[in-house]
Amino acid sequence: MIHTFEILYVGRHRDEVEDIVSRGAIVHDASSIYEAIATLKRTGVGAAIVEFEGLRPSPERALAALRRAAGNRTVLVSMTPDEWEMARPRGYVHQDEVLLRPFYPDELWRRVTRAVLPPPAKAVRSFGGKADRLAAIIDDAQRLNRFTSDLGSLGEHIVAVVKARLRAARVSLFLKGEEPDVFTAVEAAGLDREVREKALLRLGEGVAGEAAATKAVTVVREAGRDGAASERVYRQSSYMIVPLVHGQEVVGVICVTERLEEGPFGEEDKAYMEGFADLAGQIVANALQFRAADELATIDEGTQLFNKRHFRRVLPMEVVRAKRYKHDLTLAMIDVDHFKLYNDAMGHQAGDRALATIAQILRESFRKSDIIVRYGGEEFAVIMPETSRKEGNGVGFVDRARKGVEAAGLSFEDPTGRRRVLTISGGVATLPLQAATGEELIEKADQALYRAKARGRNCIVGA
Ligand code: GH3
Ligand code: MG
Ligand code: MG
Repeated sequence: MIHTFEILYVGRHRDEVEDIVSRGAIVHDASSIYEAIATLKRTGVGAAIVEFEGLRPSPERALAALRRAAGNRTVLVSMTPDEWEMARPRGYVHQDEVLLRPFYPDELWRRVTRAVLPPPAKAVRSFGGKADRLAAIIDDAQRLNRFTSDLGSLGEHIVAVVKARLRAARVSLFLKGEEPDVFTAVEAAGLDREVREKALLRLGEGVAGEAAATKAVTVVREAGRDGAASERVYRQSSYMIVPLVHGQEVVGVICVTERLEEGPFGEEDKAYMEGFADLAGQIVANALQFRAADELATIDEGTQLFNKRHFRRVLPMEVVRAKRYKHDLTLAMIDVDHFKLYNDAMGHQAGDRALATIAQILRESFRKSDIIVRYGGEEFAVIMPETSRKEGNGVGFVDRARKGVEAAGLSFEDPTGRRRVLTISGGVATLPLQAATGEELIEKADQALYRAKARGRNCIVGA
């Protein structure tokens, strides 16, 4: 079940919040600051996004009034980098309120969910009794339940909740990966990203792995090394391994390795974690399933490339990112030459196999960070972030793919009896030099492809 939440938007770029609407947020619009203040007072919206540009009578006074009406709810100020440069020295917009435009949709979602669902306050730890503890567990689980469609945010929130409830300084979360019994770190306080990506936990191996294999919350009462996450020796004399179990399967492992206070974990801490793990196990299992289904829905079966649905989703994000960071973004549209003739000569199934071979050559020709898409039947698209047309490397990569396909020698006989090999043609365009929007980028690359066909095929043309 995906729970939703409500936010307030004041500004003229409503389309910029469409993405979070599609993810389930309900957005209330206000056409003026006065209306916004009234809405904040009247409704339970969890946070407000206000556009800096429209703040009247002055940004300073408008923000003060909005914050007063919002009480302990977050106000986010959407502004351009220039506006932020101007406002920063004056101090009336706080750094943690700033939402720089244009924003990357994922980032907006994260900021808003974080604002609407702050982790429980550090002070709430003392449960008082069983009833308090159960109420806390249910409250925490409800918090997490909003993130079944977003494994990244779910991980962040699990760590935040456990940190707050157990007064822990270091909490890591490992989730089930593709390999059986191997868990990868998704959130690891204190570990930098590179270490985190390599950190693995194997079920049954090491202190944490053995504890996780028991499927029960385990308190380890000795100073030791958490071999799974790092080689670091911990200061505290007690740490806790919390397997997240769904049915008979361990779907994740929480390691609480360092506390803010001296002394071992108590029975109360353990009881809380047992209850929490029960519910979190189910929620994590749901989120893993959701992600698997989502991945399935973005991959083309025949070629194992991304499909057009994925393309439509990521191109706008890459455009935003390219503009924000002032990078070039290159798009290639590729079409197989005379594919109809290949099908006629070799049969449709052989045609399918040829497309899979071409897909493999494309994978080998581009960088890992490039997004290769099956755009249509025998058409492909490649999104190349941070690739500049000026340096010619966009065309260079595509031409490498073209040579690769030609060299593969997928041969057939055309209707005149001539022996041919399959080839591809491509059109390449770059933003911002040749296009200002994603739509325009597609159009320009398409036009270039058309010219490549007109020039006799088996060539790559730049816009
Ligand atoms: P051009 O060089 O102008 O692109 O010629 P073409 O024959 O490739 O162009 P056209 O668009 O006329 O034909 C595309 C052909 O590709 C027709 C269609 O049957 C075939 N095709 C599209 N998708 C698939 C597929 O998934 N499998 C197979 N085997 N053939 C496909
Ligand atoms: Mg075609
Ligand atoms: Mg074709």
